[in-house]
Amino acid sequence: MICRDQAIVLKTQDFRETSKIAVFYSKKFGRISGLFKGIRTDPRKFASGLTFLSVNEIIFYKKRLSDMHLVSQCDLRKDFDYLRSDMLKFSIASFCAELVYSVMPSEDAHPEVYELLLNLLDSLDRAGSPRKLLYNFSLKILSLSGFKPHLESCVICASPIKGQAYFSNRFGGLLCQRCRYKDSESDDILTGTIATILFLQKSDWQQSLRLNISPSIERQLSEILFSFLNFHLERKFKSLKMLNELLDHKIKMC
Ligand SMILES: [Zn+2]
Repeated sequence: MICRDQAIVLKTQDFRETSKIAVFYSKKFGRISGLFKGIRTDPRKFASGLTFLSVNEIIFYKKRLSDMHLVSQCDLRKDFDYLRSDMLKFSIASFCAELVYSVMPSEDAHPEVYELLLNLLDSLDRAGSPRKLLYNFSLKILSLSGFKPHLESCVICASPIKGQAYFSNRFGGLLCQRCRYKDSESDDILTGTIATILFLQKSDWQQSLRLNISPSIERQLSEILFSFLNFHLERKFKSLKMLNELLDHKIKMC
């Protein structure tokens, strides 16, 4: 089947002497892998250099019994030049791309994930506070991929939270005071942090950008978010080392 789609480059690797494999997040097909035959001996064969996170229009032959598809045409539609000059923005975009790669299954279409990644790449260019985009993106991709932390009520007894709440990685959400004993590793969470996470989960991309986050809430949000990612994804993020070298307070992941 011949398919055409818009797709963002998540990673590339050389294949044999002459070819490359690219992993894309595409609008209609989700995460897909494409083989670019002969691109290394004849780079002009395709109208795209497959730059990391560039947006391309691709035409490929979709095989039924393989998840590696043969790309016949690839035209560059948008390149994000700022990623080559701003290390912090590049690191945030790299982390988000790695997150998409790890939480989204292969060939499972989610056009909203494609839009989310595109929104991130567009907004990072103009962002005065790129860290906020990192939290916003991470919470939204968790919701879209089925890893959404539950903060509406106690995750055990479902009662509304009154008084102090605790965040449990193990149970994936809030515990009330009565249920806290079920996870001794759960931590206090501020009401403002709960409200911020709920807002970022529910609002659309543009609304989320207008939210101001105080430094104390930002610190707790960052700790909770990344310890949650670490607990559930059990993956070492290659992009995290560089990102942490550029952030004022570090992201703690094993
Ligand atoms: Zn409870």
